[in-house]
Amino acid sequence: MKQVMANSEEGNNRKKMERIELQTRIVEIRDRVLQKDRTSDRAVLEEVFDKLTLMTIYTLLNKKAIEEIFGVIKSGKESRIYTGIDSEGNRIAIKIYLTTSAVFKKGMLPYLEGDPRFRVVKKDSRSLAYLWARKEFKNLMRAHKLGLPVPKPIHVQKNVLIMEFISENGEPAPTLKEKKPKNPSKMYHTLLKSVRSLYRNAKLVHGDLSEYNIMNVGEKPIIFDMSQSVHIEHPLSKKLLIRDLNVLNRFFKRLGVKTKTSESLYEWVVGR
Ligand code: ADP
Ligand code: MN
Repeated sequence: MKQVMANSEEGNNRKKMERIELQTRIVEIRDRVLQKDRTSDRAVLEEVFDKLTLMTIYTLLNKKAIEEIFGVIKSGKESRIYTGIDSEGNRIAIKIYLTTSAVFKKGMLPYLEGDPRFRVVKKDSRSLAYLWARKEFKNLMRAHKLGLPVPKPIHVQKNVLIMEFISENGEPAPTLKEKKPKNPSKMYHTLLKSVRSLYRNAKLVHGDLSEYNIMNVGEKPIIFDMSQSVHIEHPLSKKLLIRDLNVLNRFFKRLGVKTKTSESLYEWVVGR
């Protein structure tokens, strides 16, 4: 009896130690990230790593989905993206959605509400950020499973999304905006095929396609940032698809590509 008790006490103590170690690690990680991240103002950083988000990261450390968080790659109005590694040493990208961003309430509801996959029960910005992260995860998963060129989604937990880190020479891969294609016409046609396959096979419209949301990895386009992507049955899908095609056309026209009209491309994509 005594032995059993001693064992369970030992077990409890060990668990407690592990918890404390994790907590210490997460504080260290946070401090290191905050220190490196001098570029942006303190208030925003504190916002990203608020208490609940730290708890979520704690969960991910516990699940070994994250081992270490390195510096920030980029920060936007809705999210910040960090690089890190998982417990096996694979590089990962960690996208943390701000849970306080007013952007969620204003701009994002229409994208969520028309989607049968998501039921919007609570409309506070934290709940919306959670839904938004799940939405991006699901969209990426759908596209990835069909072999479309997107970062492989790995994990989603509350407002934290973990995905494959897309890199070139160890650095985050450049966007099309940052690195113009060597053969614009070829890239244009590859992208149009992806848009078509995204529509026909994954049944998705990207919704914010542009040179800022496409990476140029060794002259191959990788499409990312799919939180706003909608199902083709969504009431906004046609409008968004035409806009995506217009944006692509504008970018490639400037690079001297003989683009097709977005109307004819629309017909070609939806196949009527
Ligand atoms: P936002 O919603 O703020 O536009 P994005 O998903 O577009 O966020 O990501 C912002 C930036 O972070 C991108 O321009 C890219 O440089 C970098 N990034 C995003 N995802 C990855 C990834 N999987 N691997 C490497 N870099 C990434
Ligand atoms: Mn983006």
